[in-house]
Amino acid sequence: MKIFNTLRRRIEEFKPIKKGFVGLYTCGPTVYNFSHIGNLRTYIFEDLLRRTLEWGGFKVKQVMNITDVDDKIIKKAVEESKIIAEITVPYTKAFLEDLKDLNIEKAAVYPRATRHVKDMLRLVASLMAKGFAYQGKDKSVYFEIAKFPDYGKLADLDKVALQAGSRIEADEYNKEEARDFVLWKAMKPGEPSWPSRFGLGRPGWHIECSAMSMHYLGSHFDIHTGGVDNIFPHHENEIAQSEAATGKTFVNYWMHSEHLMVDGQKMSKSLNNFYTLRDIKNRGFDPLAFRYATLTNHYRSKMNFTWEALEASQNALNNLRFEIAKLRMSSAKAPRHPSETETKLVKSFKEAVENDLNVPEALGIAWQAVKEKNLNSKRKLRLLLDFDKIFGLGLANIKKPVIPRKIKAIVKKRELLRAHQQFIQSDVLRNKIEALGYKLEDTEEGPIITKK
Ligand SMILES: [Zn+2]
Repeated sequence: MKIFNTLRRRIEEFKPIKKGFVGLYTCGPTVYNFSHIGNLRTYIFEDLLRRTLEWGGFKVKQVMNITDVDDKIIKKAVEESKIIAEITVPYTKAFLEDLKDLNIEKAAVYPRATRHVKDMLRLVASLMAKGFAYQGKDKSVYFEIAKFPDYGKLADLDKVALQAGSRIEADEYNKEEARDFVLWKAMKPGEPSWPSRFGLGRPGWHIECSAMSMHYLGSHFDIHTGGVDNIFPHHENEIAQSEAATGKTFVNYWMHSEHLMVDGQKMSKSLNNFYTLRDIKNRGFDPLAFRYATLTNHYRSKMNFTWEALEASQNALNNLRFEIAKLRMSSAKAPRHPSETETKLVKSFKEAVENDLNVPEALGIAWQAVKEKNLNSKRKLRLLLDFDKIFGLGLANIKKPVIPRKIKAIVKKRELLRAHQQFIQSDVLRNKIEALGYKLEDTEEGPIITKK
């Protein structure tokens, strides 16, 4: 399997640390609001990555953090006169519901930052002991980037000004400058805090991911992912903290999904084009239509979301479901061995997904299979359900439609008429079937009836 590694800015052959096993860390949400569809696109990309690895025979341990303490959460809690858990608990629940609606496989664990403060403090203490961190006059602890010569290797920081000695303590960063960043923030009045040898305070955002990923996957693991806006400074800082503390490589492969645009523009609250999955559902769309839309874009290309494109995806998904229902109705027997056509389709599908997740191409191959006339229905069904292990469109749940006995009897009578070339009468019966709400299609394997 080949993947694009942001760290080396090239496509590389994926080689796991441990044979047959993949440790995968995917940056999760900061739970102060509903996830917007740009975030959801990233989570779907990560799900496709995981499903492709699993389809290829790897066992995957996926860890996704829930950031349940940070500046934005605290700000919202203060504004609404609540404690932070009153913000984070309901939004965590909403986030997990979104994942379920989008058919995203569950991670092995969703660690909450607030439950790993001890791990974070241990990491900060080790950075202090090794001389990579210092405590400022404000009592906050900072990472000294000048001490880590590899700083900037992920983001390719030529253009970013390195401001050695100047510090930043906020979770919101200026994307143009690299500065000493906060590991441990000294307590401010009214903010939640934890005791530590550096005094009362709370962790910075970056240290959360380093501590939680290493806790569950070890200090050196296979793949770390996120959206492109995580590359700098979040992931750059994660590398600095982790590698300075352990003295070894943190992660072998870094993968990032591109932005989602709405009507060709950056999504923002001020442009009124900021959507969540709730907006999609409220307009009567199936959440999986959004998933389908993401499948038609390669993860390293910008995706342009429009309501028209979503409608087209909904139609395509409905058609695919209808095709599956039709295949379920077939009474054909499956030959034991795949035909040459089937073998070819499987080969090109595998090549597509294992070529840096070319899912749009794989989807095209699935449609080719749907339209392929030289494929036995039973085998075609099996093939499409196998492809759907990666697409995750829930096609396995499409049941064989229940056809009433009355309809079946008309179909039988019509077959008899057709066998005797009585086509005018047989057409009358076809119209009758349609009028009763069913659709009839004559195929080489016999008539197929589905609900309209
Ligand atoms: Zn993270």
